Amino acid sequence: MSDKAAVYRSLVSVIKQIGVLEERNLVPTRIYGESDNRFLTLSSCLCGAPAVVEKSDTQHYTSHCTGCSTAAAPSTTALEAAIAWNLSPNTNRADYRSSPWFGIVHLTPAAAWYRLRLIEADLNLRVQRVRLELELGQQATWAHYRKLRNYWLLCRYLIEVIQLPQPPLHSKSLTHPREATTK
Ligand SMILES: [Zn+2]
Repeated sequence: MSDKAAVYRSLVSVIKQIGVLEERNLVPTRIYGESDNRFLTLSSCLCGAPAVVEKSDTQHYTSHCTGCSTAAAPSTTALEAAIAWNLSPNTNRADYRSSPWFGIVHLTPAAAWYRLRLIEADLNLRVQRVRLELELGQQATWAHYRKLRNYWLLCRYLIEVIQLPQPPLHSKSLTHPREATTK
């Protein structure tokens, strides 16, 4: 049996924590990016062939190589299947600078990592908040919950990507006009 009073107390606590992050200026952005966050570009397989995500049964998606038998563990969403593939040792590593989310394209690995850690902390609380609101039958929607959760998954994924050694900076990104306005 769910105890609504306990859920309500959790919600109040989460809202308070979100307020603390805001007060301390620890929320770099809540505009995460316009790209459809249900999909992630798949890294190529180490054999060189591209990979695809497919529905492997009624409840699971699996990413696999189109050239060899390499596959990642099945997941319940296409996004999670793509993340599992890109983080697996059988793929060419992803570059966080190609991420359409979170405004990290022109940042150094350390700056991008720091920004993502702050965004992740805020997103984590926002996902919890919507989940608790749904449990209490408040105005939140499952669509909003899934959307926020996808951003949270992508944020965590990119933090992991940055832990990996990065390819050298391209001269193109060094001379990008937006670089000049970056403070
Ligand atoms: Zn392959």
